[in-house]
Amino acid sequence: MARMPALFLGHGSPMNAIEDNPFRRAWAAAARAMPTPSSVLCISAHWETPGVSVSRSDRPETIHDFYGFPDELFAVEYPAPGDPALCERVAAMVKSAPVALDPNRGLDHGAWSVLRAMYPDADVPVVQLSLDTRHFPAFHYALGRELAPLRERGVLILGSGNVVHNLAMIDFRRRAGYDWAARFDAALRQRILAQDHAALVAYETLDAAAMLAVPTPEHYLPLLYILALQGDDEPAALFNAETLMGSISMTSVAIGENEGSFP
Ligand code: ZN
Repeated sequence: MARMPALFLGHGSPMNAIEDNPFRRAWAAAARAMPTPSSVLCISAHWETPGVSVSRSDRPETIHDFYGFPDELFAVEYPAPGDPALCERVAAMVKSAPVALDPNRGLDHGAWSVLRAMYPDADVPVVQLSLDTRHFPAFHYALGRELAPLRERGVLILGSGNVVHNLAMIDFRRRAGYDWAARFDAALRQRILAQDHAALVAYETLDAAAMLAVPTPEHYLPLLYILALQGDDEPAALFNAETLMGSISMTSVAIGENEGSFP
């Protein structure tokens, strides 16, 4: 079996789960451009735990972990099955930290808002891996690297966050990103294309705007898991590379060889 590509998706607003827009269409195109995975292992910004956990539920519930959105969004269910065997495998293969199996954890919107576009029939099993945000970025990069053998088994490793994410500074009336947001996003994209992972792990010193762009790490760290999976011979392709509403970036990254015309 060929290596599955790995994906980081900027998920943006939860409304992207139900609205038709170019970002969402690109998520669907990304899924069509790669083989159907045996399962998805999702590292979402919206599951932070002390210690590392995987979601071991057979039938993960759909978690509506947001406020102030329309009823239509709260009504969304994403009934993908879990994959307990994958959970056991992840717990056994990760050596840099103990991995706890959480029998009750469902799927948060960082996972289902993008998966609903990618696999609308919810027929691909999904497991989530939590973020222990007490650790430095290098910990997350190292943990991501340990997951690489799963790609040979047809597992899609999917990071879901936003590389610029400052909710306190968001301006819904504004279409584009602030200058500092666009500058930080461009600096990241340049390092991604140069495969300068050391600079991306040390993002806090990458640009003067880093503390505005990444005031808390949880939406950035999923990117490091995906970059860590990149082989020396593998391309990284950028898409949805746009900043919007002042302080959000939708920039997304596909690692590996894709079929067809994507991206
Ligand atoms: Zn989010």
